[in-house]
Amino acid sequence: MLLVDMDAPGVRIGDQINTMDRAIGGGHPHLYFEDVFVPDTAVLGAPGQGFRYAQVRLGPARLTHCMRWLGLARRAMDIALDRTNTRHMFGSAMHELGIAQDMLALNVMDLETSDAIITKTALLLDTDAKAGSALSSVAKAHTSEAVYRVIDRSLQLCGGDGVSDRLPLASYLNEVRAFRIYDGSNETHKWAIARRASAARRRAVEEGAPFQAGVDGTPPTAQPRRRAWHRAQRHCSPYPTAPK
Ligand SMILES: Cc1cc2nc3c(=O)[nH]c(=O)nc-3n(C[C@H](O)[C@H](O)[C@H](O)COP(=O)(O)OP(=O)(O)OC[C@H]3O[C@@H](n4cnc5c(N)ncnc54)[C@H](O)[C@@H]3O)c2cc1C
Repeated sequence: MLLVDMDAPGVRIGDQINTMDRAIGGGHPHLYFEDVFVPDTAVLGAPGQGFRYAQVRLGPARLTHCMRWLGLARRAMDIALDRTNTRHMFGSAMHELGIAQDMLALNVMDLETSDAIITKTALLLDTDAKAGSALSSVAKAHTSEAVYRVIDRSLQLCGGDGVSDRLPLASYLNEVRAFRIYDGSNETHKWAIARRASAARRRAVEEGAPFQAGVDGTPPTAQPRRRAWHRAQRHCSPYPTAPK
């Protein structure tokens, strides 16, 4: 991993990649490093370890994305609440109409669950970096989808003003939509989350946890605990039967 001054010979900023989000300072340009000389004093840590170091920052970096986009969603909710507290229609305040209340309640649920998973992941990263990094996939996939829903509902509650540039909600939607792609697409995170869950459960059953899906009549507590047998079952049948 290296530190390079932007005015070092050989450093060049290439074309800007124009994306739907606009708020990231400096944008997303290509960067070129051509025959750049890097002195020993600008090498961070041990040579050849850069990829490993970069992996370490992935979990915390993912959380900072979650936090700033959760901030946008909270602001969107404030706009929706101010709107529904003051707008009257069909003989009542908007915040007293059931369909509006449903959207406000779902917003609160999305905001609170995102806040909870971010907090849990941050605490875990401090005590168990590997488990924290794994949980950061859950935080990223959940928060990126939840904040989009919150801003989308808030925009809906604001009606025509919501889609206009008099309110910032339409631009917020553009900002957070890209979050389902950045930092690894949600599909790849879900793929990793599911694989980890499956592997952890297989390990637990191999180590003696009661098997819970004995539809062939085998009582879960009677499941054999022999590691090799479980491994063989995994490859040939979804329904374990007792070994001979
Ligand atoms: C402007 C910009 C900024 C970025 N910033 C960051 C950043 O800060 N941090 C970072 O880590 N990355 C960042 N990225 C990279 C981003 O993580 C990748 O673009 C993303 O991982 C998708 O990879 P890809 O573009 O190669 O698309 P592809 O790999 O071609 O994926 C395209 C789509 O295929 C689908 N897909 C992929 N794998 C699977 C699967 N296993 N099962 C089902 N469907 C699947 C997904 O829907 C995915 O969105 C940035 C990208 C851009 C354009």
